[in-house]
Amino acid sequence: MQLPKYKKKKRIKLKVCQEPGCGREFWGHPIAKYCELHRDIKQRQKQKKDIENIESKNIIFRHNYTEAMDLEFKCCLEGCNNTFTIRMFPKQYVYPRFCMEHRNDFKRANFLRIMQKK
Ligand SMILES: [Zn+2]
Ligand SMILES: [Zn+2]
Repeated sequence: MQLPKYKKKKRIKLKVCQEPGCGREFWGHPIAKYCELHRDIKQRQKQKKDIENIESKNIIFRHNYTEAMDLEFKCCLEGCNNTFTIRMFPKQYVYPRFCMEHRNDFKRANFLRIMQKK
């Protein structure tokens, strides 16, 4: 009996690229996720995650100051009333969301744990 030879080669399927906003169809291995373009990791929107990460710890404060200046902010952590001073710089809009104490992930989690117990 002769084994069909094509079986091994034809492990290719029509897939849809998993990259958000791409949706291109391509022929690839059953485990392939991305079209030819997005197979290159540099082409993928990994920045999206970075932005979320930035926003979880920072505020986007849009201002039109033309010189650096100090502003007082209140810590965004629930239950914390600390205020802190941030120096605003022209054309820079990303600033820390939390007071000095709570800029550290561990300390923030710890603070929340203590608050919940009260
Ligand atoms: Zn794609
Ligand atoms: Zn705080």
